[in-house]
Amino acid sequence: MTHPFLDLPPLSAARFASIEDRVARLMSTEQDVVIMQGEALLPLEGAIRGCAGPGTTALNVITGPYGQTFGNWLRDCGATVHDLAVPFHTAVTAEQVREALAAHPETDFVSLVHAEAATGNTNPVTEIGAVVREHGALFYLDAVASIGAEPVLPDAWGVDLCVIGAQKAMGGPAGVSAVSVSERAWARMAANPGAPRRSYLSLLDWKERWIDGGRTTLLHAPAQLEMLALEACVERIEAAGLDTVMARHRSAAAATRAGAPALGGGLEPFVTESTAAAPVATTLRTPSGVIASELVARALAAEPALPLAAGGGALAKEMIRVNHYGPDASRESVAACLAALAAALRASGVTTDPEAAHRAATEAWPEN
Ligand SMILES: *Cc1c(COP(=O)(O)O)cnc(C)c1O
Repeated sequence: MTHPFLDLPPLSAARFASIEDRVARLMSTEQDVVIMQGEALLPLEGAIRGCAGPGTTALNVITGPYGQTFGNWLRDCGATVHDLAVPFHTAVTAEQVREALAAHPETDFVSLVHAEAATGNTNPVTEIGAVVREHGALFYLDAVASIGAEPVLPDAWGVDLCVIGAQKAMGGPAGVSAVSVSERAWARMAANPGAPRRSYLSLLDWKERWIDGGRTTLLHAPAQLEMLALEACVERIEAAGLDTVMARHRSAAAATRAGAPALGGGLEPFVTESTAAAPVATTLRTPSGVIASELVARALAAEPALPLAAGGGALAKEMIRVNHYGPDASRESVAACLAALAAALRASGVTTDPEAAHRAATEAWPEN
């Protein structure tokens, strides 16, 4: 008997190219889209190392932990880096980006995370993109946590390098990722003597040996399982409709933001303005005296499959993450998370009103 995972034929170059085209349609882009054979950190790092060098001046926007990582890579490449950090409970504004670019007019690279699942915020890329384009810098965007949850439009926004991964709102596997690359970005990489070449991190290898060759010969054997899973996940989004999938994430965020405070246990949205709250995941602030990681551990002990986590690092004390993405962008998942948080709060001696929370969450879900 053939095994469904183990006895797969090699994935053909034509199939690989057709999956790339489907991902490009999902991103509404005419730019080259390169699928990378690894989790999203691979193209995120590859794109920075491809573009940045000692001659680069970068504006690195930090609205969460990934921004910090990008700054480290940029410095490692020898770039001069100006960080623009905003508190994790807010979003950066286009005006702040404009001021930072005015203060450092030599800036030729801007890195930004669209939405951060780790902090629950999302940044106004339409407005920021216009500012970056006017300045002329190359624009690098991490859209891993936004694709599938909110519009991601690299062409309309003037994004030169837009990285996505399938493991968040796309509801797919974590082992493959993709990046759209503009002509300007390819030119920057080709002119960069430090850009990775003949390397797993190299985007240029894919340009020169895959794209320029008419996408007939793959660089190495593709990871069939991940590629087939990526294809299936894009197919599922197409069948449901991208707008429907995004609406589900928006609704899940609205319901969680409304439901958690209605519990009456002192939980509040961590991201204060709803316009800055990411549709992909909702972060909550615990009341003083309640340790977030302990509360989450108690909730997960009762129901291990719930999409709940505590914040990373120092945030573990005060932040709860409700990861209502992919299949968990559903009324059932949000309701189960709220009920579990209510039970965990009760067990810590905090009075809650789970019915009020359920009502508030249900009313906040737009298409009742
Ligand atoms: C989830 C995420 C990634 C991918 O990182 P993982 O650690 O594999 O989850 C990258 N960027 C952002 C903004 C993310 O939210």
